[in-house]
Amino acid sequence: MPSMQLPERILAICRTLEEAGFTSFVVGGAVRDALLGRVPLDWDLATDARPEELMACFPEAEVAQPQFGRIQVDGADVMSMRRDGVYRDGRHPAFISFCSDVEEDLGRRDFTVNAVAYEPASGQWIDPYGGVKDVSLRFLRVVGDPSERFLEDHLRMLRAVRFKAVLGFSLDEKAIAAVMENASALARVAGERIRQELDLILLSDAVVGAFADMSAWGLLPAVLPEMEPAVGYKRGRDDLFSHCTLATQWAPRRLPVRIAALFHDVGKAQGQATDHAQISAERAQAALNRLGYASQVRDQVVQLIHEHMFLYPPGSELGLMRRMVLRMGEEGVEDLLELRWADRQASSRKGMGGHAERALSHLRQVLEEGTVISREQMAISGRDIMDTWGIPQGPTVGRLLCALHEAVLDNPILNERETLMSMVPPLLRQESLP
Ligand code: ATP
Ligand code: MG
Repeated sequence: MPSMQLPERILAICRTLEEAGFTSFVVGGAVRDALLGRVPLDWDLATDARPEELMACFPEAEVAQPQFGRIQVDGADVMSMRRDGVYRDGRHPAFISFCSDVEEDLGRRDFTVNAVAYEPASGQWIDPYGGVKDVSLRFLRVVGDPSERFLEDHLRMLRAVRFKAVLGFSLDEKAIAAVMENASALARVAGERIRQELDLILLSDAVVGAFADMSAWGLLPAVLPEMEPAVGYKRGRDDLFSHCTLATQWAPRRLPVRIAALFHDVGKAQGQATDHAQISAERAQAALNRLGYASQVRDQVVQLIHEHMFLYPPGSELGLMRRMVLRMGEEGVEDLLELRWADRQASSRKGMGGHAERALSHLRQVLEEGTVISREQMAISGRDIMDTWGIPQGPTVGRLLCALHEAVLDNPILNERETLMSMVPPLLRQESLP
């Protein structure tokens, strides 16, 4: 086996450990990626230094999990080697003990392709489970008995889905059978851990395959029960579930847009075509709350789903676009247009279609012109109206400003002090004040 190419910062970490008398190994995804000929982005290192010793070697490091001896140095995750004790709850080992035998540390890992270590000091590969061969076969095999390992930690079933899809590997038949047998147990895993795997699936280019597996193997009710009604619900040539996952894969790699695409039409399985966006948004919100997504992501997703059916009739586009920018911000509108585009791609695959391309040029136009005028940017204020016409503060002033603002959004030339002031008296007459 040739030696593994390591960046200087990783070698430096290994040297520091060595100088303190410890061994260190590159493990996990970085080894797998290197064997695949990919440049690893994410580095995991294992060492026989115990947690206190490890922290003493890197006093400046961020300590992620002190009880496991897990620290972060220069973008690498460094962990004391350990063996797991028995798992009683399907989520955590009841205890762990630290060890200095790398083979033992590899034995607790999930898949053979993730259970290969490389020792930079000696240039040695440690491969007790045949992971190197499995990488070359593009084969995902569980270390040990699949059912036992999935019962220890149920999250491994979702990791199997992710690695199969993202790496494009095939999953061992025995592992598939074990997932199907134990799928419902995944619901017991903390939302946050599910979310981390789900995000990696959603941001990959293998969304369709991963979700098809989740559904076929019975994991969907544990991961996203809110999507279940879409499975098998007929929609033209595809079922609704496939349409949603396909739209997700077409969407840009930004989490809120991808999640919005996943849920955008789910409500169709339940509601009338007209109110499906509302139901879809509620379902997304419930899912995101349950999985502990940040409120910012949740709010963006909900807004995108609410807006995804936006109408764009010719003649009033610029006014509509200015209103959309005020409601959603520039990036929000870009996300919405990309969502629309992805939805169209998933439906017809006929190129841009729809309004997305036209709308994008309108977005650029209104931003360049500087005609997205907020209420606060209008050339007159409520105070001007109150002072000039002696109207007391109250809802009338608000309604007048609102009417003027609507006019300015359709026709920004009106945003001059004199013009707006001249529009007030006729509006006041319409108000039919006492
Ligand atoms: P990625 O390239 O996505 O980072 P990875 O294989 O490095 O993939 P991580 O989640 O970073 O995945 O985990 C690092 C390593 O820790 C894995 O390769 C695996 O050996 C081990 N591991 C992580 N989670 C588990 C788990 N739930 N059960 C067993 N081993 C695990
Ligand atoms: Mg990793």
